[in-house]
Amino acid sequence: MISESVSVDRQARLLDGRPIAAALRDETADRLDRFRAETGMVPGLAIVLATADPASQVYSDRLVKTGRKLGFDCRVEAVEPATPATVHARIERLNRDDSVDGILVQMPLPAPMSVTDIATVISPQKDVDGISSVNVGRVAMGFPAFPPATPLGGFELLRRYGIPIAGQYCVVVGRSNVVGRPFASLMLGANATVTICHRRTPDLARFTRQADIVALAAGQPGLLTGDMIKPGAIVVDFGTTPTDDGLKGDADFESVARVASWLTPVPGGTGPMTNVVVLRQTLEAAFLRRGLQEE
Ligand code: NAP
Repeated sequence: MISESVSVDRQARLLDGRPIAAALRDETADRLDRFRAETGMVPGLAIVLATADPASQVYSDRLVKTGRKLGFDCRVEAVEPATPATVHARIERLNRDDSVDGILVQMPLPAPMSVTDIATVISPQKDVDGISSVNVGRVAMGFPAFPPATPLGGFELLRRYGIPIAGQYCVVVGRSNVVGRPFASLMLGANATVTICHRRTPDLARFTRQADIVALAAGQPGLLTGDMIKPGAIVVDFGTTPTDDGLKGDADFESVARVASWLTPVPGGTGPMTNVVVLRQTLEAAFLRRGLQEE
């Protein structure tokens, strides 16, 4: 059990995403140099922006900036007016565009469109945020795939902080196809025993109190409190809800930090990992499309 040596009074250590994201950026820059040397080409990422949502615009611009700094050819593809037909047409064009290795469709799509409308349109080989039905299926089957960037980033955080996963009991709160479900698949693939909880789970604490690792992907600030976990549990919080007091995770940070051994801060935990994982997967897609192996 992970919790044996951890006292109840202990302040949790932070699973800080910033230094890990920085290390991943450096590794990606090194591999990109190798790709350029081998192919004479620059990997390309296209971000499909089909919404006027200002937060999505900010996220896209930030991803473009990070990508360009690392040497990617990144661009935003704004689709206006955004209808299922125009979004499909743009994705299909990008599927055929040889300069594009990765396609990220910025969420949320404008209602009534949803991820299911594009899940079969985006080429699985360019689907660097793991939303296509092929990638979702491959992740669930434990096959090589591009998992969605957010859960893969959280998984990578655990691995790089040396948190044992095999044999641990992991409770995931949330079952969306973009966060909860793929995170559960990744943990299962790494030999954790996994339970997924959702809104219809009666008595959530009955499950979370038994968990060695609790992953939160509900979008409900304060959902998990310190009395709902066992001493020494590890808490990975994917929740990011804008509130009057800033961005909030699903954990009640104060009370959970008194009981957990490790906890992701919000912001600064899983969030910083997402962009760099998208870029990392874009580079991987670029290698794979040319039949090249990364070392
Ligand atoms: P979502 O599609 O709304 O799914 C939320 C899931 O949580 C659903 O499965 C829902 O259950 C479950 N849930 C909600 N309230 C619950 C409760 N009180 N008890 C138990 N389960 C509950 O959200 P999402 O897209 O997965 O996003 C989840 C969170 O992650 C959000 O805060 C989002 O902003 C954040 N996020 C973060 C990143 C990042 O980079 N860190 C990226 C993407 C998303 P039902 O299925 O029964 O409705």
